[in-house]
Amino acid sequence: MADLDYEGFWKETLIQLRNDLGEEEFSGWFSNLKYLHARFDEKTGKNSIVIGVPSAFHRDKVSSRYKNAISSTLQKLSDKDITIDFELNKKSEAKPEKKGIEPVQSTKKESISAEKTTKTKIKRENHPQLRDDYTFKRYVIGENNKFPANAAIAISENPGKAYNPFLIYGGVGLGKTHLMQAIGNYIHENTENEVIYITSENFLNEYLEGLKPQEHGRNTMKSFKNKYRYTDVLLIDDIQFFTDKPGVQEELFHTFNELLDAKKQIVFTCDRPITELKKFPERLISRFGLGLMADLQPPRYEERCAILKSEAENKKVSIPNEVIDLLSNNISSNIRDLIAALTTLIAYTQLMGKPITLEIAQQRLKTIFNSPRPTNLSMDNVIRVVAESFGLTPNDLKGKKRTQNIAFARQLAMYIGRRMTDYSYTEIGQDFGGRDHSTVLHSINKIEDKLITDSTLESTIESLKRSIKEFSAKY
Ligand code: ADP
Ligand code: MG
Repeated sequence: MADLDYEGFWKETLIQLRNDLGEEEFSGWFSNLKYLHARFDEKTGKNSIVIGVPSAFHRDKVSSRYKNAISSTLQKLSDKDITIDFELNKKSEAKPEKKGIEPVQSTKKESISAEKTTKTKIKRENHPQLRDDYTFKRYVIGENNKFPANAAIAISENPGKAYNPFLIYGGVGLGKTHLMQAIGNYIHENTENEVIYITSENFLNEYLEGLKPQEHGRNTMKSFKNKYRYTDVLLIDDIQFFTDKPGVQEELFHTFNELLDAKKQIVFTCDRPITELKKFPERLISRFGLGLMADLQPPRYEERCAILKSEAENKKVSIPNEVIDLLSNNISSNIRDLIAALTTLIAYTQLMGKPITLEIAQQRLKTIFNSPRPTNLSMDNVIRVVAESFGLTPNDLKGKKRTQNIAFARQLAMYIGRRMTDYSYTEIGQDFGGRDHSTVLHSINKIEDKLITDSTLESTIESLKRSIKEFSAKY
């Protein structure tokens, strides 16, 4: 059997997989696999090829997704049954400049246990700023998020080297924070790198704190700068918050440069493409061009089902398929809402001691769909009040007419809707007669522009907001 050219078959298999999967997907999963050796088992008469993988996570993913495709390609090429085994590949994981990096140990017994016995893995505590359930294991990957998710995995395995900086953008509730924290959790768990996660709001607050006069000789600005400029991995969430805040933008710019120069990983999230951020200095925007920007798209029906199934599995609850179907069909543009509906349903049935059935789901969901979101106002109310104040009807704002008065009222309602609720651009678009998210974004930008030149607009908006609140309290 030794005459079989196993390595040749492996190389040929890679070429075929690259063709089948496309460059993007292929390079995410296969470019850092390494042919190690082949085995022939005399007793069973079986051939196997052993491939090195960079991490246990990578191994599990490649194994569950691609093992069949690899095996059948190998068989076609060699006309033999060749099984494929994966081993953690120590070399591809070793990073000389960093100490103590070890691949993740998701299972107790690894085939590489021999090389591990010499080291004892120090289990790090959970990261204090990261949610321990925001991991890759809990992140369902589908067509809608394949690109950012694969990039995030590549970054986790190679922080500071794969793509830097990395920007994840997309609407509310689409998984930006989860994906960003998954990177943080992975690096925290598997390396000794220091990871800092911070929301933009807190970053700003700490910066403002640093500007205050010194207390007791402590230089808070200096410690602020040291903290953020000398970490290994910096995750900053929701940077749209820095819009029109020149002081902190300047600070961000310097932090950015220091970290990039030192090849430290930076990850940002934003609710829109970076080029659509208003009042963001060009030199800051151009820094993002050095790395990778990837957008999260709303999940399609199949992905919504997969997310619900995975959520149910995590909660160890069994959910009938027709209930999954009902939820997936009714909640389409926001994963947070989708999961919240499932959580409500589970809580209700558990409290009532009943199983989850389609009938109960339909009943419960009626209350979810018909009532405005608990902490938010409904878009319908926003539309009604704004329309009325312009002497128009809600249908005028939802319809196609574009006279100046109607177009302005429509833009204003979208702007106020976005400010007062946590509806995404896509959702707002749906409430305005099925317009798409870029139209909504464009309208909101128009109002933002007008706010600069029209000094009375701000107070008009404030008074409309008050009326909307009053109206919503009544109905
Ligand atoms: P964003 O930061 O974009 O507003 P989040 O990251 O807070 O969104 O995600 C909202 C909720 O949806 C979270 O509970 C998150 O765990 C969940 N979620 C988002 N995307 C996925 C996914 N692909 N798989 C599983 N859960 C997801
Ligand atoms: Mg978020």
